[in-house]
Amino acid sequence: MADLYPVNETFLSWQGEGVHLGRKAFFIRLQGCPVKCAWCDSASTWHPQYVPKQVRKATAAELADEAKASSPQFVVITGGEPCVHDLGPLVAALKSVGLPAHLETCGAYPIAPGIDWVTVSPKWAKLPLAESLQRADEVKIIVEAPDSIVRWTEAVGGQWVAPSVWLNPEWTQRANPAVLKAITDHVKAVGGAFRAGWQVHKPYSADALDVRARPPVPLGGDPAKGL
Ligand code: SF4
Repeated sequence: MADLYPVNETFLSWQGEGVHLGRKAFFIRLQGCPVKCAWCDSASTWHPQYVPKQVRKATAAELADEAKASSPQFVVITGGEPCVHDLGPLVAALKSVGLPAHLETCGAYPIAPGIDWVTVSPKWAKLPLAESLQRADEVKIIVEAPDSIVRWTEAVGGQWVAPSVWLNPEWTQRANPAVLKAITDHVKAVGGAFRAGWQVHKPYSADALDVRARPPVPLGGDPAKGL
């Protein structure tokens, strides 16, 4: 019997962040994450107080067929932390129906081969592997405080390899003038790979328009809610 993936939700929307912003995409959000960020915006994938009572199980072929039926330009495999699962069969199934596989990961776990686009969004709770940072097509830094960009750049030895390093305000800080100014100042001062970012799908409520999408469960940056 084929391996089963635990699926939190699937939905058709558009990519709300990064280089592929605005493109039609099918999202597969897998259940499970051991990282436990205090400001996680998908706590229903792991937090005991928010996980659904029942989580759907699906084979790689079933997920690929479901994605294909929506005719997206690519499929985003996300979570949770998708790389805690063996993504090889899912990537192969998506390729068999002609769909590029994109991945959103914290980078702390090995990345399966064959993925077409890798977004690494590093998290302090479990630091990314050097090989994940080398593999990343883009990096997304969550700017939770004005010093986040400098702290992260120091944490990786002062040099990012990826051609695009997005600076996205953590969503609860999206109107914090100090955070937004830090992003603007850094892009103006350094430029290069650094790009000011935003989670554009959120003000659109784009994901929620698909009835298969679950309501978002953000922890809101409250450490008291973390475990
Ligand atoms: S933000 Fe990502 S890495 Fe952090 S707890 Fe949530 S799903 Fe896991």
